Amino acid sequence: MSKATKPHRRTPSDIALRAEIITTAQRMNSSGLTPGKSGNVSARTEGGMLITPTGMPYGELKPSDIVTVRMDGTAMAGQRVPSSEWRFHLAIYRARRDVQAIVHTHSLNATALACIHRTIPAFHYMVAVTGGDRILCAPYATYGTETLAKNVVRALGQRRACLIANHGAVAVGDTLRKAYDLAWEVETLASQYARARQLGRPRLLSAREMNQVLEKFKTYGKQTPVKL
Ligand SMILES: [Zn+2]
Repeated sequence: MSKATKPHRRTPSDIALRAEIITTAQRMNSSGLTPGKSGNVSARTEGGMLITPTGMPYGELKPSDIVTVRMDGTAMAGQRVPSSEWRFHLAIYRARRDVQAIVHTHSLNATALACIHRTIPAFHYMVAVTGGDRILCAPYATYGTETLAKNVVRALGQRRACLIANHGAVAVGDTLRKAYDLAWEVETLASQYARARQLGRPRLLSAREMNQVLEKFKTYGKQTPVKL
């Protein structure tokens, strides 16, 4: 990564976003979503993104430890080193204007399925919460590489989550909270799918059934007045 010369000036909203990234990363750890220092969190900014630094325990993070990376891949001067996965975070923001936040985990069951390169099919209607009728697994590439970034963007497509072969999972959203909640949803679905496969061959929902759920999810959780 090349270094830009100008130091970064922080605005109040920038500071609030840094604090929210730290809260999300610490919540990932304390809730057991991702072990140790694994995983990372980012949020889009006007000219690029803010992302957790590499190799630091989440419990020790301060707002100044969060790293700014510009959309062209350059970093602001005088910062910590960004997460080794900054390339795929940036590639997602470039490819998807709708994405405002990204949570990457090595959560247990999603990672276990990713290690057998398994797509999570429409075994449960909640798969549709990821914006499609299946959760694809991006092909393996060495962590931190452009190849991995391309693979993740392709597997994600227009959906909000994918697995990463022999690695973990990624969830995106229009807020950090939504990306975090979706990462938990993916982990829950992965554990349910793995358990169902132990019992037998899950009966998959049809494209028509999933399309009905996808349609209903467009208004799911929205508080609109109900006519009685
Ligand atoms: Zn990772």
